[in-house]
Amino acid sequence: MEQWQQMIRNSIHTVDQLVEKFNIDRKIAEELDEFFQARINPYYLSLIRYPGDPIWQQCVPNKAELEDIDAEEDPLMEDAMSPVPNITHRYPDRALFLVTSQCGLYCRFCTRKRKVGNYDKISMKGLESAFKYLEAHTEIRDVILSGGDPLMLTDAMLEKILKRLRQIEHIEIIRLGTKMPCVLPQRITPKLCEMIKKYHPVYVNTHFNHPWEITPESTKACEMLANAGVPVGNQMVLMKGVNDDPATVKELMHKLLKIRVKPYYMYMADETKGANHFRTSIETGIEIIENLRGHTSGLAIPHFVIDAPGGGGKIPLLPNYVLHQDEDKIILRNFKNQIYTYKNFKDKLNPGKKEGKNGNGNGKHAEPEQVVVEKIDLPVLEEIQN
Ligand code: SF4
Repeated sequence: MEQWQQMIRNSIHTVDQLVEKFNIDRKIAEELDEFFQARINPYYLSLIRYPGDPIWQQCVPNKAELEDIDAEEDPLMEDAMSPVPNITHRYPDRALFLVTSQCGLYCRFCTRKRKVGNYDKISMKGLESAFKYLEAHTEIRDVILSGGDPLMLTDAMLEKILKRLRQIEHIEIIRLGTKMPCVLPQRITPKLCEMIKKYHPVYVNTHFNHPWEITPESTKACEMLANAGVPVGNQMVLMKGVNDDPATVKELMHKLLKIRVKPYYMYMADETKGANHFRTSIETGIEIIENLRGHTSGLAIPHFVIDAPGGGGKIPLLPNYVLHQDEDKIILRNFKNQIYTYKNFKDKLNPGKKEGKNGNGNGKHAEPEQVVVEKIDLPVLEEIQN
């Protein structure tokens, strides 16, 4: 048995352990265990500094999870967009492939609580129909292995899946959605990296939420992946009491770049059953991005998105930098609230007034309508500029 597997075995997971270790009322611990089991491996447990800290909140069951028991189990409608077991096909050219229900840690904010935990929640029998679906759908060029966590599979099992995917010519990119570099970095071994290298291009999307998760162990894991030619990106979830302030997020983003992980997404928390106590306001997220853009390198700035309820996919959010836009110009503010005008350029999408409707002559593009992004008093703006 490898070290990481032994660490999974040594995780805190029983009601007795929850009562003893975290002083949770036994009846509540039983209800929580019934709803979504606990798994706190010794590595992640060692990162807790005090009760209720940002690490504790992410892994220790909380009675608040039982309070929104009527909320949506599958707010992103992943199951409704599943044409065959284990596949979610939401976007035209990419598909999500769920290969296990197991994770190295069971995160209390998980949006897939319905899928994760018990072995019977994701069926391995579904793998064959999933491969057949991927083979038949030639428009899919990017497959994201997820679950659960695909790095909970043994190297041999993961290799079987990668090998089979690489036999499908139209699949260009394979991504691993894994939290292991953060929650159980001992899983990233030289043997695993050597195996993954055979199936490039392979990308990893990992999931750090707080600067305390950047440790010598997680640094080593991310650097090993980078040295194996695997680009590593980070998806952070904005969570109350964990990372909902600009300084914490900026520190995390800077630390990620130092361990060669590119900040990729910052998500608003999903409206998920048993995780709504983590939600923050949209304004909090906008303020965090506002405090990054211009104040630090663009490399450190993730896309801030809402994964739209009802299966609408990721929709980006930005602070409002556009004060006015028409066909001749755009008026913008920068991160210091200084105002600038950028003159528009006439091209096929903006042929200009003189050329009239369909001004490019080929009739394909109608003249764009004037867009006024925000009602603003232009003379006032011009006065400010002068
Ligand atoms: S690792 Fe991912 S899938 Fe597993 S519990 Fe955490 S958030 Fe959910």
